[in-house]
Amino acid sequence: MHDEFSDEENFQQIPGECNTTFDFYDHELDNMELNKDELRKMNDAKYTYDFSRYPRHFKSVHEALDTYCSLGYPNKVQFRLYEHKQAGSKTVFFSLACYMRHQPRYDTKYYTYDAQQGRAPKVSNCNVNVRFYWNEREGQFERKECFKYVHDHRLEIDERCLLPGPLLHDIKLLVMENFDIQVSEVIQKVYHAHGKRLRHLDVLNALKLIKGDVRLDLPNLMLDLDQVKEKYTNDDNETQITLNTGTPIVVFIQTREMMDTYRLYREVMLVNVAKKRKNKYGLFQVHMTGINNYGRAVVFATGFTNIKCKEAYSWIFQEFYKRCVQLNVDLP
Ligand SMILES: [Zn+2]
Repeated sequence: MHDEFSDEENFQQIPGECNTTFDFYDHELDNMELNKDELRKMNDAKYTYDFSRYPRHFKSVHEALDTYCSLGYPNKVQFRLYEHKQAGSKTVFFSLACYMRHQPRYDTKYYTYDAQQGRAPKVSNCNVNVRFYWNEREGQFERKECFKYVHDHRLEIDERCLLPGPLLHDIKLLVMENFDIQVSEVIQKVYHAHGKRLRHLDVLNALKLIKGDVRLDLPNLMLDLDQVKEKYTNDDNETQITLNTGTPIVVFIQTREMMDTYRLYREVMLVNVAKKRKNKYGLFQVHMTGINNYGRAVVFATGFTNIKCKEAYSWIFQEFYKRCVQLNVDLP
């Protein structure tokens, strides 16, 4: 039978590392009733992602939520805390549901009609959720064996960060304090400071915007910088390459030629920061350029930073300044 969900392209491999085989004829699933629509979608990677290999034991609710959201990110699955049961002051049960549950579906062509609100996008009934129970003996939460992983919507994550500028600025400051800050920590701190509860996905996207989505490989970066240094050491140490390894990570590069050009054409200098992280380390490039007597653009120095912030820029300017003082060149 041929329908829109049995196309060949839908049988492609799921992106990301899958340790388990992509098998939906799992005997555990037999106990769970899938409806007609879910049966139709369950071999389709656009609707289905098996996260049964995710960790099953957690000490806390937030640890579980953070782990599931960050593991789910490359496969476009996100979770939120859905139910929560407490006995006294202690949580005994919680469930993480697909973050789309009861949210308007953005993949739908269909609308619901309501007497008061008029036309509104269909709301998702996504059933995907996992339940965790407190195991007193082990002293941690344990995941229930069976759960559904067939969504009623396409697996797509909104990549945009919709947080207002001042909030983003506050989150940036939190990152500067602790580069490895967790999403739930940010949510908690913002809640304490502003009384505003942020969505996990928004904070995740904000952190991605601020820090980039790949972890910076510092040892490799140092090796690469050493290679660049070697390439330019024919002149007596006139190439300056310095690296600031704190937070933020900043690189400053100025070869002898760049300094000579600066000496000649230092009347005008443009400092510009790249909009995108277009290199394998995910760093922003900072260009310090000018213009020569032929009206051509020339490079005075270049820098790289992993976070766009005052600290990074002032560090680069200080390096530039130090170099000017050292080589007895007038400042612009
Ligand atoms: Zn879902």
